[in-house]
Amino acid sequence: MYISGDYHLHTYASDGRASVKDHALAAKARGLKEIAITDHSFSTLFCNMTEKKFGKQSAEINELSGDDLKIYQGIEGNIIGNRLDVPPSIIRKLDVLLVGFHRYVTLFKTTKEERKFLLTNGFSSEKNKEKLAVYNTEAFVSVLEKYPVDVIAHLGHRTPLHFERIFECAAHNGTYIELNEKHIETLEAHIDGAINSGVKFIIGSDSHKKNRIGEFRRVEEFIKKYSVPLERVFGTDGNKPEFKDKKGWQFVV
Ligand SMILES: [Zn+2]
Ligand SMILES: [Zn+2]
Repeated sequence: MYISGDYHLHTYASDGRASVKDHALAAKARGLKEIAITDHSFSTLFCNMTEKKFGKQSAEINELSGDDLKIYQGIEGNIIGNRLDVPPSIIRKLDVLLVGFHRYVTLFKTTKEERKFLLTNGFSSEKNKEKLAVYNTEAFVSVLEKYPVDVIAHLGHRTPLHFERIFECAAHNGTYIELNEKHIETLEAHIDGAINSGVKFIIGSDSHKKNRIGEFRRVEEFIKKYSVPLERVFGTDGNKPEFKDKKGWQFVV
């Protein structure tokens, strides 16, 4: 197996400590063919995306992307209850829409239900796990059905879920399940269900620093240990993922 892509990267536009150019140079040095820049989204605390930063990043990516290295522009959207914090006008400009649960999200302009979702998941212990799993699963399913989601990042990180239902829904909607180098352990108990569901996988280092791009030691071990079918793992062995066309996408409530 060899690594040919990395579809989860952060830059100075959010909480990364690298520029698009730093990642592009490191990616070329590692022999990668494709990468996706996926900074945190608009409601993230302290280092949120803005329209201005997004526009500047688009221009940078257009300049650096080429035949030797394809660079996709993405966002790592926050799931807040059953909505995403990415404006529709931005979604239409994206190559890649990643979504994930993060607890450091502003509570400004959130509904009572959404605050409950953020706070009970982000800061609670083991209690109420089953009740939360039911609630979270419905939230994730509703997001997958309403938005053109390409990838679910670090599924299960700080969020109890009914994984099988999510895999089934992701397979149905053509959404990739990420094999995330930093949080691969969250899939450990559920990988058989994922394989059986027919869902596709994609690799992401979730790298925030220079020269960490393309590092997948844990993901590689995981793939071998659980015999994840390589033809369904995008970003390895030259397998290139396909992302949804979002240009004409409209939000329907
Ligand atoms: Zn994340
Ligand atoms: Zn990330």
